[in-house]
Amino acid sequence: MFQIDLLIDGKTLPAAGGRSFERRNPLNDAVASRAAAAGTADAIAAADAAARAFPAWSAMGPNERRAMLLKAADALAARAGDFVARMAAEIGATAGWAGFNVHLAAGMLREAAAMTTQIGGEVIPSDKPGCVAMAVRQPAGVVLGIAPWNAPVILGTRAVAMPLACGNTVVLKASELCPGTHRLIAECLVDAGIPAGVVNVVSNAPEDAAAVVEALIAHPAVRRVNFTGSTKVGRIIAETAARHLKPVLLELGGKAPMLVLDDADLDEAVKAAAFGAFMNQGQICMSTERLVVDRTVADDFVSKFAAKAETLVAGDPHKGNTPLGAVASREAVVRVQDLIADATARGAKLVAGGRAEGALMDAAVLDHVTPDMRIYHEESFGPVVCVVRARDADDAVRIANDTEYGLSAAVFSRDIARAMGVARRIESGICHINGPTVHDEAQMPFGGVKASGYGRFGGRAGIEEFTDLRWITIETQPGRYPI
Ligand code: NAD
Repeated sequence: MFQIDLLIDGKTLPAAGGRSFERRNPLNDAVASRAAAAGTADAIAAADAAARAFPAWSAMGPNERRAMLLKAADALAARAGDFVARMAAEIGATAGWAGFNVHLAAGMLREAAAMTTQIGGEVIPSDKPGCVAMAVRQPAGVVLGIAPWNAPVILGTRAVAMPLACGNTVVLKASELCPGTHRLIAECLVDAGIPAGVVNVVSNAPEDAAAVVEALIAHPAVRRVNFTGSTKVGRIIAETAARHLKPVLLELGGKAPMLVLDDADLDEAVKAAAFGAFMNQGQICMSTERLVVDRTVADDFVSKFAAKAETLVAGDPHKGNTPLGAVASREAVVRVQDLIADATARGAKLVAGGRAEGALMDAAVLDHVTPDMRIYHEESFGPVVCVVRARDADDAVRIANDTEYGLSAAVFSRDIARAMGVARRIESGICHINGPTVHDEAQMPFGGVKASGYGRFGGRAGIEEFTDLRWITIETQPGRYPI
């Protein structure tokens, strides 16, 4: 069992109220972590500490910040074994998923490190004689990052890496489902020499989430909020941030379509669909949720895809001998099973998988899914994918856009010009041609449209999110004034 404390002002502390909460292993219900249950006083203390650390951190030279972020990337990579253990215990993740998390998170720290010297500005021609006018990017202040459990190392790191690179200090609000994994990210940052108060971590019991988040957003030193999580909570965060006039970056849910056009390489499409739909048991915001297949190739595609899906069985991630691990909770499995039952009752055909026991569920494929079924619209966030048959490419685009979400998408076609035309018409922040919907790299502009949120993480796009653009002038001639 992992004992998880708060990190405030460089100190490892229990919650001020002395309370803690448990996160249980979804597979066997054993206590995975016992974590400090912060109250609003702890949240305020964390933001206060970040505010005190801001002047020195923001004034630090970019290469000094860069060196620490690079060291943190190495520290993270060196603790891969610990991350694997915590992710298996807290969320039932496979070693493969945990290893990928550590790899990409380290990449995000290295990318952020590279950006420290790119936070610049420009000189703008002024109409005033002798006036030198500049637009200058400056760190914003304290940044609050709120991350979910499903890709915990990637998303916890993403919530803080670019903000830190830009010269901000941070408070990370850990997910109740993986407090130990999120806390370990901060340990790596501290081990890399990042000064006390620059990174703070608050964990909370589920029932305290709203109060703790409100206290953090309301804190006057907090100038930016980034939230990765569900669209439902994203709306609450956006409303709260609006009340306090705080800009917010929202990375929310998805219902990613993968379009298989009539000229697609079906074998390649099957491989990408299986990876996109079932990696991490379908619990990725970019997970393929809808396979929109041209009806002329649908039978062929479905028979190949169902055969592949039948090989994707779930098992104990501690044993590590199955492609799929556990789903984050038994309740999540029940929810996914309900979606399948609703669809089959309305005429969908379960063509692969669907077997479940506790938090383990094998990959499931539903064919002939139609708009009257819940799963056509609702994010399943589990190991099930729908096949929706389309009349032609135009119909496939219509179906792809027939959702409130717009995070990731994919198009398979041998005709790249045609695929590009289709990709441009899909309403999503991200679209991959002849590749899976699940694809993330630290330097890419990552984010969605519609109910998948707004704002972009990644590379240069992140600089704009986590800095203020200021107008600064220098007068070089004597002033001439009308009064
Ligand atoms: P969630 O929205 O349930 O929880 C996220 C966070 O919100 C938690 O830290 C929780 O404490 C907090 N929270 C809960 N209720 C709150 C309230 N009333 N007020 C303030 N905060 C509150 O999401 P989750 O289950 O952790 O993550 C799964 C979701 O995240 C899925 O919808 C998935 O698509 C999405 N996601 C999006 C991305 C992306 O980059 N777009 C990445 C991963 C996951």
